[in-house]
Amino acid sequence: MSRLVMKFGGTSVANMERIRNVARHVARERKAGFDVAVVVSAMSGKTNQLVGWCKEASKLYDTREYDAVVSSGEQVTAGLLALVLQDCGIPARSWQGWQVPILTSGSHGSARILDIDGAPLIEGFDARGEVAVIAGFQGLSKEDRRITTLGRGGSDTSAVAIAAAIGASRCDIYTDVDGVYTTDPRIVPKARRLDRVAFEEMLEMASLGAKVLQVRSVELAMRHKIRTFVRSSLDDPDHPQPGTLICDEEDIVEQQVVTGIAFSRDEAQVTLRQVADRPGVAAAIFMPLAEANINVDMIIQVASEDSVTTDMTFTVPAAEFERTKAILHKAQSQIGFASLHGASDVVKISAIGVGMRSHAGVAARAFKALSDKGINIRAITTSEIKFSVLIEAAYTELAVRTLHSLYGLDQA
Ligand code: ADP
Ligand code: ASP
Ligand code: MG
Repeated sequence: MSRLVMKFGGTSVANMERIRNVARHVARERKAGFDVAVVVSAMSGKTNQLVGWCKEASKLYDTREYDAVVSSGEQVTAGLLALVLQDCGIPARSWQGWQVPILTSGSHGSARILDIDGAPLIEGFDARGEVAVIAGFQGLSKEDRRITTLGRGGSDTSAVAIAAAIGASRCDIYTDVDGVYTTDPRIVPKARRLDRVAFEEMLEMASLGAKVLQVRSVELAMRHKIRTFVRSSLDDPDHPQPGTLICDEEDIVEQQVVTGIAFSRDEAQVTLRQVADRPGVAAAIFMPLAEANINVDMIIQVASEDSVTTDMTFTVPAAEFERTKAILHKAQSQIGFASLHGASDVVKISAIGVGMRSHAGVAARAFKALSDKGINIRAITTSEIKFSVLIEAAYTELAVRTLHSLYGLDQA
């Protein structure tokens, strides 16, 4: 029999009524002849509450205990869904990460899945006709044998990894929107649902801020060629809509130049003024940040007029802003800069599309459109299938809407 993974996010399991609705989606697929593994998130808001409690308990919390606490949300929904399925006459059992087991690295709070034993799940299908309800977001560290979590949004990754482990023919990610849109529909009501999106584009969209899928889930789907759909759990279970298929570029017939616009508020800008203009200075700035595991993204070095000093601007994740400033101040005499300026009220807006490979001037049109709206660009980066601009956060919606219309993405 064909196997199927169905993942339900926080809004989809927010209360008992929604969990009953999930059971109806599962019953439909079982009736269609699938062996089903379900992956669930915690009820919406639960993980935030648990994270909040950890921070309240201890400012510099031990990430092993953080994982023990925040993984509990998924355990509750897995158990509840198994109970509801049983109540509907469907054999089902819940699985926690360590029971499968889903083995991960030891980096608590953002662990990577290393290995999943699909055999016990398959035995449940074959021997008992049982639906496997698996707690998403969690695993077991191979290093210290303790519970780990996979980083925020990690249940998407649990689902795709389980699909690979049990050889599922499809992985359906059910959420509160009916697919992947040209941009976040909460910001742009005119955003359009895409029938298909290429793995590479989805990877960029997710990395650049579209939180509809966790980045690692897209990496895994791409690597293992898992047919993955993003679809709505809020649809009537008896009349399901197909959603968006994440697929190979070749499987998309009508390719646009720009497929989507993403934005990320998780950025902070750092500018060092009057940096000595000599070989080795970039290394002196960025090596200590790399050693502290701080990801530097956009970098601009201004050519100096006098060949003596220059200005250097770059971005780091907003969560690392304070640590970055502290590290640079500590290394100030070694690096040799006059002053450090920082801003966290910035947003990175990106346009993504595999069509950019074969079209020139795509980014230039955006620069013009943004300047026509009086929006100042602070930094730019480009690569083969995307470009990003850093602007003041107050202009987020205006800039996203401007680019969305510019590239013809608005719904008719
Ligand atoms: P879940 O709890 O089901 O995992 P998430 O909140 O993680 O759901 O992801 C779904 C949300 O992602 C949507 O409600 C939407 O606001 C947001 N989102 C951001 N960018 C996009 C996009 N391009 N297409 C669809 N949804 C998007
Ligand atoms: N519950 C976790 C979170 O909110 C994981 C997930 O929902 O994917 O981040
Ligand atoms: Mg999510």
